[in-house]
Amino acid sequence: MRSAEIRQKFLDYFVSQGHHKVPSSPLVPAQDPTLLFTNAGMVQFKDVFLGNESRSYSRAVSVQKCMRAGGKHNDLDQVGKTARHQTFFEMLGNFSFGDYFKRDAIRFAWQFLTEVLGLDPEILWVTVFETDDEAYELWQEVAGVRPERIVWMGEKDNFWSMGDTGPCGPSSEIFVDRGPEYACSDHCGLGLCDCDRIQEIWNLVFMQYNRDENGILTPLPKPSIDTGMGLERIAAYLQGVNSNFDTDLLRPLIRHVEHLSHVNYDPGPGGMPFRVIADHIRAITFLLAEGVSFSNSDRGYVMRRILRRAVRFGLLLGFHRPFLHELVPVVGEIMGDAYPEVLVGESLIQQMILDEEERFRVTLDSGMKVLESKLQSVPEGGVLPGEEAFLLYDTYGFPLDLTVDAAEERGITVDQTGFDAAMKEQRERARRARNRRQDAEQLPHLQPNEFVGYHQLTSHDVPVTHLYIG
Ligand code: ATP
Ligand code: MG
Ligand code: MG
Ligand code: MG
Repeated sequence: MRSAEIRQKFLDYFVSQGHHKVPSSPLVPAQDPTLLFTNAGMVQFKDVFLGNESRSYSRAVSVQKCMRAGGKHNDLDQVGKTARHQTFFEMLGNFSFGDYFKRDAIRFAWQFLTEVLGLDPEILWVTVFETDDEAYELWQEVAGVRPERIVWMGEKDNFWSMGDTGPCGPSSEIFVDRGPEYACSDHCGLGLCDCDRIQEIWNLVFMQYNRDENGILTPLPKPSIDTGMGLERIAAYLQGVNSNFDTDLLRPLIRHVEHLSHVNYDPGPGGMPFRVIADHIRAITFLLAEGVSFSNSDRGYVMRRILRRAVRFGLLLGFHRPFLHELVPVVGEIMGDAYPEVLVGESLIQQMILDEEERFRVTLDSGMKVLESKLQSVPEGGVLPGEEAFLLYDTYGFPLDLTVDAAEERGITVDQTGFDAAMKEQRERARRARNRRQDAEQLPHLQPNEFVGYHQLTSHDVPVTHLYIG
């Protein structure tokens, strides 16, 4: 089943159950400084859940563009290593705003999976939050799930929140068992390991609370439902492929990377560069299409980190010239029907990617030589000092995660505390220098009202490479 068909079936099913179809909101959340990127379908409904905003409908369904890089939900480091994580993905979600609650949420999810998509109930497992007896009973009663297929889980996995504050609640997750051939060990199983055999596909959040700045939970005016299913994950299962990267949503990108690099894709660990590049180019294309620009702070810096990470992985495939922009039309071919915004600015997006890649390539080769030599001086299993990673960041524009990736390939870890300390020290130095300059500006030759602030601040004081988002 093609992914376009899965999107459509999802929307159709929930519309037939009285849900209002709502388009995806942007990746950059509107007027929400607490959140770097939209990381779930519920983000655009946050105020509705909080009771601060009302809509003309109490049930909604959407296919939402999501980004999980930076902020509370950050999957950047996972990308390329697991079969199931990207930074950019699409989330299929149904929502109830004080309308139905656990019973119907469970009923709808089960019916959609087993009847509409035709999944065999025997491959499905579910989890419930450790105190949620109600959900435990309902899975048996409404969906006929056998108790041995229901696993109790703790707060880390089964209590969902969007960020440090906001709507939250216990959750139940649905998993598919892809079969013993995917087992990581003899003890592999749901709740016992985090491998790709039993894969989470859908999270049903029973939204009951709002968490405030002090971590205090207060009940929401009306309990609600928020669900999210990863399109790429369910597509992988339905298309009978081994990972999200083999679906019709990502595999054409990998194929194009193969074509450009003349290297064959290895679906195992060796194929990580292909997977990273395929994911990252989608993320960058969507962010640029929304008007995010490369910069040294906030979202623009996250995007810069993503691009630099892709470029570094490109080196492993032999790309010693800019190549990422050549993938943008492939993103357009795959995603343009569902998201026309990636087609509208296609040539401009390509140009911005090319410029940014060229800019990084000015320091890339020399930075890589320094990095290689530093890594060679550390034995396998050893630690690269934080100051060295900071030097690479400061002088060559190597984001920390890029250095961490390269180190990891040699079994070396990076001292992140030392990196942070070096960063802090750098900032202190910059601050002291700024104060000295400001003192100098008090000199008597200045006219009493002469204003020098903007020039001083913008042209000297904040060296562009010195900003960092952890
Ligand atoms: P996991 O435990 O596998 O990291 P999660 O519990 O963090 O997933 P949720 O926050 O519950 O994920 O998001 C709802 C659904 O979105 C998941 O069940 C999954 O299908 C999908 N999803 C989450 N993160 C990603 C990702 N990085 N890439 C692709 N799909 C994802
Ligand atoms: Mg996760
Ligand atoms: Mg999970
Ligand atoms: Mg989950």
